[in-house]
Amino acid sequence: MADTVTGHDEARLRAALEHAHHPTLALVLVHLTGDTSFLSARYQPAYQAIGGDPDGGLSEDAKAELRDAVFKAMLAYWETGKIVPKSDTPTLKRMMDYCATQPIPDEYVNFAMHELALDGRENLKPGKGIALDRAQAAAFKVLIIGAGMSGIASAIALKEAGIAFEILEKNPEVGGTWFDNTYPGCRVDNPNHLYSYSFEADHAWPQHFSTQDQLLAYFKGVAKKHDLYKSIRFNTEVVSAAWDEAAATWTVRTRTKDGKEETLASNAVISAVGQLNQPKLPDIEGLGTFKGPAFHSARWDHSADLKGRRVGVIGTGCSAIQFVPEIAPKVSHLTVFQRTAGWLAPTPDYHDYITDGKHLLLADVPFYQVWYRFFLFIAMADGPLAYLIKDPSYNRLDYAPNADAAALREGVEQYIREQTEGRPDLTAALTPNFHISGKRSIRDNGVWAAALKRDNVTLETGGIARVTETGIRMQDGRDLAFDALIYGTGFKASDFLVPMEIKGKGGQSLHDVWGGDARAYLGLTLPGYPNFFIMYGPNTNIVVNGSIIFFSECEANYIVSCVKMLQDQKAKAFEVKRDVFDTFNAEVDAANAEMPWGYAEANTWYRNAHGRVAQNWPFRLIDYWNRTRTAHPSDFTFS
Ligand code: NAP
Repeated sequence: MADTVTGHDEARLRAALEHAHHPTLALVLVHLTGDTSFLSARYQPAYQAIGGDPDGGLSEDAKAELRDAVFKAMLAYWETGKIVPKSDTPTLKRMMDYCATQPIPDEYVNFAMHELALDGRENLKPGKGIALDRAQAAAFKVLIIGAGMSGIASAIALKEAGIAFEILEKNPEVGGTWFDNTYPGCRVDNPNHLYSYSFEADHAWPQHFSTQDQLLAYFKGVAKKHDLYKSIRFNTEVVSAAWDEAAATWTVRTRTKDGKEETLASNAVISAVGQLNQPKLPDIEGLGTFKGPAFHSARWDHSADLKGRRVGVIGTGCSAIQFVPEIAPKVSHLTVFQRTAGWLAPTPDYHDYITDGKHLLLADVPFYQVWYRFFLFIAMADGPLAYLIKDPSYNRLDYAPNADAAALREGVEQYIREQTEGRPDLTAALTPNFHISGKRSIRDNGVWAAALKRDNVTLETGGIARVTETGIRMQDGRDLAFDALIYGTGFKASDFLVPMEIKGKGGQSLHDVWGGDARAYLGLTLPGYPNFFIMYGPNTNIVVNGSIIFFSECEANYIVSCVKMLQDQKAKAFEVKRDVFDTFNAEVDAANAEMPWGYAEANTWYRNAHGRVAQNWPFRLIDYWNRTRTAHPSDFTFS
């Protein structure tokens, strides 16, 4: 029995297996032993795993057999160091069906095989396999605005393709939203084994849903590993970008933190600033009059000592629900102002740590990490959309779009009742009156209701009249005194690319063209703005299906494909055709109108001031993947 860091320790392995996601063990066994009987009904989970490690209802006996079989297979593997993994397509298809708990439709096979990447995660890098003329690529300069999750993905893709690039970042560090948001309790709400780059998925996440510092460390690590730092100008904000038609280049004006302005030129520009980067203060009268510390959640003032103070929090979205439970025990009194309740998404393991046993399995058992991620991927890919699609024959459409969605809503209502037991006032206040996904659902493991039930916490659902020098005046005339105010009031999600001034052909201002109603073809390009790309642009936010990092990788791949297309066309600039752009937007609008976020009467950042959903992708994940594999010349004009 050798005790090594690589895990050649039988006792450690035995103990670790107790922490396994058992369906993943069945798949590992197919590779380690070649025996497909581990995919039989005895070991078939009845439902999929999202978040933690539910085993899909496998019996205790079946689970013990799987653990035992992996233990023996690992001993043999340690002995010989050899595996001949099962990789024939019919077997892999059976394994994917096993994960999905039903046969995967044929159209998903390539998509799923791609994600599985049994030939190596390196091959998942966006742009991989798109062969450009290297000399031309090196002479094609791209400026990327933003070194957040999308900017990093596009830089890695461009680097892979040999395209010259530079990143302009307003902050002194990479990370974007994970740099800006430092409020207490900030963490991701997508499981980390999925919320990570597909080509950098082998990461030892400390939690299923890790905290902001861990996310920031991950993005810094990826940027370092891919040697991006030397290509980033930090503390440099882009003020404007203008298309120079004669030169077929973009002229980009930058301003550093100390006010120094500079003009740069590039063949293409990628905006990677995201949808949620401009904090939105509430439009409440008297906002600036408050004398104490007052700040937005995304600009947390860590110098403000809240200990023993009376604190008012405006907003009850994803941000507030994360920081309120953290600060509640420290303050003397906390008043939370709720305008609209959001749906909670019960997630018991939301704050759980990955055990040492799980870490060992993820790191040392061949194929465990790959299939564990695939379980999450396939569970979250497009299945959850079923809860959003209207069944016209359903007789309770005012309650939910279909029978399964109604059962889900009833379940969450029951969860809220349990969480608020003994406080009927809270039960009423926390139960939304619109369809689930009418606005962003909020993961919860019980800490939200627990915080609101505290003796030193009050939930105010009445209207706010104004902010005063000393606190908040309610519409019913009450004056509430505070020492500090915190605005958890979200972001200007509809103001895409604000405050940058973007001028396209003929000096046309993008913000004038959009008029507050941003649109782009595949969220990425638009007529009149040649060689200009928007990552996480209009209509590319996903609500229930998948990870937003997946979208960014698709976008980065498409951008490389566009540069390849330019080379093939021997052109300097491309522009999406007006009719392609219009048709796409009409399809998107029609589909979004049928989604809860399109029709539910709820305040949401998913709709802009025109009432149009300019944020969300209403289709399947596979549709975006298919549409961004290759840029089609017939969609564009060239010059
Ligand atoms: P948000 O979801 O837009 O919530 C803003 C809150 O402020 C809402 O409760 C809103 O009420 C309230 N509010 C706004 N203006 C107000 C006013 N004038 N008076 C009273 N209340 C007002 O913002 P967020 O919580 O920052 O979250 C934004 C998005 O960021 C999330 O949906 C999510 O996509 C992302 N996010 C993710 C994570 C994560 O991954 N864990 C964490 C935080 C945020 P109404 O609902 O009535 O408008």
